[in-house]
Amino acid sequence: MRLKLLPTSFDSFGCATLHQHLCCFLIDDVVAVDAGSLATSTTPEQKRAIRNVVLTHAHIDHVAGLPLFIDDLFVSLQEPLEVYALVEVIDILETHIFNWKVYPRFSELKNQFGEVLKYRAFLTGKEFKVAHLTFKAIKVNHKVPSVGLIIRDGDSRIAITGDTASMSEFWDAVNSESKLNALLIECAFPNDLQELANNSYHLTPKLLEEELVKFRHTECPVYVINIKPMYYEKVLAELNQINSFKVRTLQIGKTYEF
Ligand SMILES: [Zn+2]
Repeated sequence: MRLKLLPTSFDSFGCATLHQHLCCFLIDDVVAVDAGSLATSTTPEQKRAIRNVVLTHAHIDHVAGLPLFIDDLFVSLQEPLEVYALVEVIDILETHIFNWKVYPRFSELKNQFGEVLKYRAFLTGKEFKVAHLTFKAIKVNHKVPSVGLIIRDGDSRIAITGDTASMSEFWDAVNSESKLNALLIECAFPNDLQELANNSYHLTPKLLEEELVKFRHTECPVYVINIKPMYYEKVLAELNQINSFKVRTLQIGKTYEF
């Protein structure tokens, strides 16, 4: 499977930087995981191809691009955009974003071809199909209802934590997989902001190292994601001190083949 973390911030020459403000992964050019930069960092071809979005949770850096993506495509959608999420997350989107005050309730609107937005609620621990991929959502430990994801395509299998603090169910689930091609794990804050990390249910490099003790796939590459952009260099330096596992950051804009 091909995975790309879409760029979200740009330097004074308009070039994408290493800093990640928003979260949106594109898998095999057709399925998006989270929608932070879904509207602003996709090409016209990608906009035509993406009809499935899987959400880990409803925080703005993970859903910001969703309203504008549907808005951009409203008249041209010949089939609805399908949004997969926990029922609690769907409720948050409908109550606080698509509420006619912040943005139109697209789930009630139709274009000339029919519906433009359809929700698909998933349950944790149960596999579900999205396009050619098989997903399993696992509860993680964040401030709001949130999941990590195990994503499978044939023999290829990856796990993404989404935003989280210290976890147990997620590790039980990934450890029970026969193999894993990659683990993508968050690390939002540097070590000196551990109190902020605790209060907002995120990890620091020190906490990440403690988490990795629970990870049994010792040969599996570990890619760090969701580093708060203001602390990128500091977190990177602290991650370089971690000796266990092959920990590296997931390069923004690079296509990975897993
Ligand atoms: Zn979050």
